[in-house]
Parts: sequence; structure tokens; C-alpha cells
Amino acid sequence: MEKVIKVKCIDKFTLRNHAETEVLAEVEEKDYVAELHEETEEYFAKDDQGREFLVGEINIIGELVLQDGFKMSSDRVILIKVVDKLGTHTLMSNCFVVQCLKCKKERNLVESDIKENHKILPEKCECGGKNEFKYWLDSVYTEDEYKELERKAELKEQAVDLFRKYPGNININLLKRHLRIGLITANMLLEALENDGVISHLGENRKRTLLKS
Ligand SMILES: [Zn+2]
Repeated sequence: MEKVIKVKCIDKFTLRNHAETEVLAEVEEKDYVAELHEETEEYFAKDDQGREFLVGEINIIGELVLQDGFKMSSDRVILIKVVDKLGTHTLMSNCFVVQCLKCKKERNLVESDIKENHKILPEKCECGGKNEFKYWLDSVYTEDEYKELERKAELKEQAVDLFRKYPGNININLLKRHLRIGLITANMLLEALENDGVISHLGENRKRTLLKS
């Protein structure tokens, strides 16, 4: 079964609690990306304010049954990986948009926007304007995770500064001593910088070198 599906709401509605005192979600007539909750085998989407609502479930014979008012969207959910200074993120269709810089029209990402090596270069808008790919980290991370990532990004920069200063000493101890961090964090930093291609793998001489400056 799919982890993520794209559904279209064909009859907008407002979801309220039993006592009708509270709005639980406001669902518009448009496409929604819904994620599978594996424990219950139910698909939930989020409204514009991030409130979850049920769109369907897997029945006893393994078929997807949608709630009334929903149908499967013809668009496929495009999952893409983007790399930025905070790391690598897997984005779903509801985390990004393609927007024309000239007429400001927004549209979904399509497969032909994705070039070789997973590079994203959106096709031009029908008005002739250049399309721009934008995504929002706040739909990928919570505020705490975002802060943690920012701290890691900061540590990475400080680590690279240190490596430039002491290129013969790229190791955990250098990081621990100068950045006042623990063993686990220092190790995580070294691994992350190796994955980013900033420093080399541990060589036969048990040393690492700075690859990018
Ligand atoms: Zn345009």
C-alpha cells in the first residue's frame, strides 16, 4: 500500500466535534496529500491550518476505501529530495510549490521539471515568465527540530573554520576541545561533513583531509 496518496475533495465541508462547539478541520474543494498512519491503516490529510482529517482507510481485503466526498486525484504525489544547508529533506507535494516570477501563478511540480541528477529546473510559465521552485521547511520540521538543525548548521560552519586552521588535525578531539561538545555530537558532525563531501573519509594513515574550503 502507498505511504502517501493524493486525493481530491469534491464536496467541501467543515469537520466539527460531537458537540459542534469546535472546528476540527476545514476542507476545501481541492487536492490534498494524505499520509498513511500505519498502525490504523488510515490516511490523513491536513487542512490549510495543519489540522488533520481522515480521507480514507485500507479495508479488510487490503483495498483503499475513500471517505464520502473524496476521489483519487489524477496527479501523482511527487516525492523529492532536496539538499540545503540544513541537510537532506524528503519533500512531498504539499511542502513545495512552483511559482511564476512574472504573473505569480502557482502550480504543482511535474516530472519534466526534474532534470538529471534530481536537479529541479521548472519549465517556463505559459505567460513566458520564469518559474521558481520554492519549499517551506516548517512543513518538514517542527520548530524544535528546525532549531536543532540550525544549531547543527552553525556547528558545521565552526568545524570547517577549525579544520582550515588545523588541517593536520581533523578529528573528534579537535571538535570536542574547541566547540565544547560531547563525543556523540562531535562524531555526528564528522560523519555529516564527510557525507557532505567537505572532509575525506578516514584514510589508511588514520587521518582526514579538508576537501572543500
Ligand atoms: Zn506566468
